[in-house]
Amino acid sequence: MNKRDYYEVLGVDKNASEAEIKSAFRKLAKKYHPDVSKEPDAAEKFKEAQEAYAVLSDSTKRSQYDQFGHAAFQGGANGAGGFDFSGFDFSDIFSDIFGSGFGGFGGFGGFSGNSKNRPVQGNDTLKRINLTFEEAVFGLTKEINIDTTEECDECHGHGGHGEKTCSECHGSGTVTKEQRTMFGVFATRTTCDKCSGKGKTYDKICSKCKGKGINRVNKNIKVRIPAGVDNGNRLRVPGKGEAGYNGGPNGDLYLEFTVKEHPLFQRDEDDIYVTLPLTITEAVFGCKKEVPTLYGNVKMSIPSGSESGDKHRIKGKGVENPNTKRKGDMYIILKVLIPQKITKEQKKLFEALDKTGLDEAKEIKEFNKYL
Ligand SMILES: [Zn+2]
Ligand SMILES: [Zn+2]
Repeated sequence: MNKRDYYEVLGVDKNASEAEIKSAFRKLAKKYHPDVSKEPDAAEKFKEAQEAYAVLSDSTKRSQYDQFGHAAFQGGANGAGGFDFSGFDFSDIFSDIFGSGFGGFGGFGGFSGNSKNRPVQGNDTLKRINLTFEEAVFGLTKEINIDTTEECDECHGHGGHGEKTCSECHGSGTVTKEQRTMFGVFATRTTCDKCSGKGKTYDKICSKCKGKGINRVNKNIKVRIPAGVDNGNRLRVPGKGEAGYNGGPNGDLYLEFTVKEHPLFQRDEDDIYVTLPLTITEAVFGCKKEVPTLYGNVKMSIPSGSESGDKHRIKGKGVENPNTKRKGDMYIILKVLIPQKITKEQKKLFEALDKTGLDEAKEIKEFNKYL
């Protein structure tokens, strides 16, 4: 299924300000909210707009989206193609549109009135990693620096000390209210004011995380990068994304590789190509040559009468495939060097050689037929 571009969904351009994005979403939400809209595909349109807004209104997610498109959020909590905005709090904007108290539509879409209360998986994060050619071919354990969130070690993610069940909502995080709005009377569940939807209150709010239960951190982690990764490959590091909420699991970290080119070895998937320069004499007489490979030098025989572009395969000297663990091959491409500067004496020798009729090759005769 082709997903529409989030900017297109909201009808804003790529440089739209936060205010423009919010206002565009507000218009769509009013138009397509399934409780008020008569349009046949309102629910889908509404969901699409919600998803676009959840991403574009968050500066981190927006920049990930700008860089990687929908791929930035694949393989998340809902599996490939799924987008999980259950951690996203729409209540502010909905109370903005429909009047306060319209925050919860129990069970609709990816959110519900007590979303602050239930475990939510943390966001996935993406980091670009530069590798040398050799690092990509052989793999390594690399220390990388990440900006992420972590469960607060002061309160172990609880957000405070001396936890009690909220006396107002009895732990559910929501209270039911009848609400009169411009569209009629709705019985709505709204977030409990007393506990902000947590269902719990504390004797003392944690001073380190200010009650959020998580903190933003910058830290180094060690990651094993397998042999054979290539430019643009993505590696999933499970559980190293942002911290979950309310005891939910962490998101995943994705590493995307940019691999530096090697001056001699050229890589095409699992195969390696090397250009071997030969003198005219070596090409004409044939020779023995030592050739570098990824796994040390090998000796090879170049047959007499070799030409530029001749290709020799050395089996199994390519890159190990990270999935199949099979090694690709190495290809040696010959390049016969024609001298650019010659001495008078060399010139005489070439002329003498020419008189022997050396160059009356079949190909030349064939070519000349068409002149
Ligand atoms: Zn409460
Ligand atoms: Zn804390």
